[in-house]
Amino acid sequence: MINVTDIQVMKPLLASHGFHFSKAKGQNFLIADWVPRQIAEDAGVDRTAGVLEIGPGIGPLTQQLCLRAGKVIACELDERLKPILGLTVGEFDNLEIIWQDVLKTDVKALVAEKFAGLRPMACANLPYYITSPILSALLEAECFDSVTVMVQKEVAQRIAAKPGSADYSAFTIFCNYYAEPEILFDVPAHCFLPQPKVTSAVIHLKVRENRPWDIDDEDIFFRCVKASFAMRRKKLSNGLASGFPELGKEGAAAVIVECGFNASVRGETLDIPDFAKLANAIAKRRAK
Ligand code: SAM
Repeated sequence: MINVTDIQVMKPLLASHGFHFSKAKGQNFLIADWVPRQIAEDAGVDRTAGVLEIGPGIGPLTQQLCLRAGKVIACELDERLKPILGLTVGEFDNLEIIWQDVLKTDVKALVAEKFAGLRPMACANLPYYITSPILSALLEAECFDSVTVMVQKEVAQRIAAKPGSADYSAFTIFCNYYAEPEILFDVPAHCFLPQPKVTSAVIHLKVRENRPWDIDDEDIFFRCVKASFAMRRKKLSNGLASGFPELGKEGAAAVIVECGFNASVRGETLDIPDFAKLANAIAKRRAK
């Protein structure tokens, strides 16, 4: 197997194919062999797993996934990588590469088609310019057991943040609604070529089998979360009144008190059960 994380191997391999890194496609390739190994290990990939990899690049993580998984589907946007991947991962018969934009892919249908009888997982060193849309699509597809991805460290911290902290955001709640996040380890910038400006981190999202909240209307729940964080430095009643104009200022204040919160509470201190309570109260009011 070609050691693609060895810079002495990688550089001539890329040069012989006239390949130049595309910043626009978020191409920072791994040059530390412990990283892809650790990701595949910590994700719990084994023969029972069907793994969707996003952005194989020249295949360091793909190799480690193929060595462990029942099947791997790798989705790559950049067709210039075709001949290189042919050399670096061509030997694996449990691998299929699909040459398309993951954001234009029906992930749920792909998983149903390719991973029958396997435990679906997603694993990736994500292109950072589209981390949030990819993660959102993977979680909303509701078809994976887990999602293990490398992202910017600050994004990982945002995903795993606790209520009331500076990193806590609407995206925190979105991710925690679907999954239980755990930051696994940091990856310094010198582990990549070219070096990114930031430290990275690998985060494991164990998808929830059951969500332990009664939420009457998912749409209202997420609108409520968004509205609360849109004005995070202001009182929650202001955010709710602007996110749900039909409530008006008085209605928004009444909902907050009715749910047992202090009238001057700020949205950034609330957890998922709190938002569920608020959203259900709003839904009830709208139904009247
Ligand atoms: N997995 C390789 C590694 O760890 O060295 C490469 C990771 S690099 C950070 C991100 C990869 O995602 C690149 O190969 C890039 O071409 C690919 N990519 C970028 N946007 C994509 C998209 N919308 N759909 C699929 N792949 C994409």
